[in-house]
Amino acid sequence: MGGFIMPTVGLDVGHGEDTFEDKHSKGLYNNNQKYEEHHFNSKLAIEIEKHLKIHGIQVKMIQKPFSDDVPLIVRTNYYNNEKVDLVWSIHANANGNTHVEGICCFYWHDHEQSKKAAEMFIDEVKASGHDTHGSGLHASERGSWTDLHITRETKMAAVLTENGFMTNPEDFEDIFGNNNTKYIKELAIIHAKAICRYFGVKFKGEVIVSGTVSFPEEVKEMKIADLINSGDLVRLETVYRHARFEGLLDSDEWEKKVGSGELNIGEVAYIEALLDHRRYVKQKEQIEALKKELAELKSK
Ligand SMILES: [Zn+2]
Repeated sequence: MGGFIMPTVGLDVGHGEDTFEDKHSKGLYNNNQKYEEHHFNSKLAIEIEKHLKIHGIQVKMIQKPFSDDVPLIVRTNYYNNEKVDLVWSIHANANGNTHVEGICCFYWHDHEQSKKAAEMFIDEVKASGHDTHGSGLHASERGSWTDLHITRETKMAAVLTENGFMTNPEDFEDIFGNNNTKYIKELAIIHAKAICRYFGVKFKGEVIVSGTVSFPEEVKEMKIADLINSGDLVRLETVYRHARFEGLLDSDEWEKKVGSGELNIGEVAYIEALLDHRRYVKQKEQIEALKKELAELKSK
């Protein structure tokens, strides 16, 4: 069967571990405590990456979370050389006026695909009930305050999200304060939904969790090899090889498990959930065929 062309996102973690210390910017002091924008950006990126991987979207990060700053020119050269499909930069905002609040998104003014991605993001922000900063949409233009390196120097669609104002007391609570864990989880879903939408991938991220934990432990540990005859096992292996080929099972652990007949029901459920979440609009028929094959096997 033909392979998917897996879309790739350059997930761009704003700033670096040394940014605050070296430049006394990109963060703030509150009650003598240091709060770094890079830390928030890192936590959010890690959560977004999890969602994207589950949906079969590849993630490339040249700026690693909680690591020293990678210069902007190095970042955009990397994305352009790697020919990623989309660059998604993650930030938190700051303003001298502490009343200024909300989420917004930048895109290069005459880049249609970037604008589309930005609109999808703001649409998801609004649907979630979080505030936007004004309309939430900012068209980057040369020579203005909106002239951002990331949106200007990227050859592909690119957006920069500002996920609230660190300088606003309510936004601060979300970004660094008591609401921090919940806020990051919600934001990661908002980001992932927008990115999935951009690529035409159906977002079902939340379903995966319930799907994989619903089996009792003793059932999860039962080995498939003990339950079906060897002929069917070969067919089952073929299904998993397809899944692997589609980029779903990239660890060699899976290869070992399938080869040695160690694959258990919990893992099958996991793989099934992954397969179920890989419904690209374009390749819908292909996935349906895979699922049918798996369902037939399981019904025996
Ligand atoms: Zn920033």
